[in-house]
Amino acid sequence: MSDSPNANSKWSKYKVEDDKLVRGEFCPNPRCGPGIFLAVHVDRKSCGKCGYTLLNDGKEAHKNF
Ligand SMILES: [Zn+2]
Repeated sequence: MSDSPNANSKWSKYKVEDDKLVRGEFCPNPRCGPGIFLAVHVDRKSCGKCGYTLLNDGKEAHKNF
């Protein structure tokens, strides 16, 4: 086992770091909860479940709760 170089380990490491970046803020809607993370866009973050949107200047949009 130890004599086989594992080239894939490098990629899985990057994957973990990618995952960390994506999991930034979660949706403040109590119906979504900490399990639902906001999708990051260039100018805003948004929830794919309830539509909640947090603009980069701090304004909230599509807040249905
Ligand atoms: Zn939500």
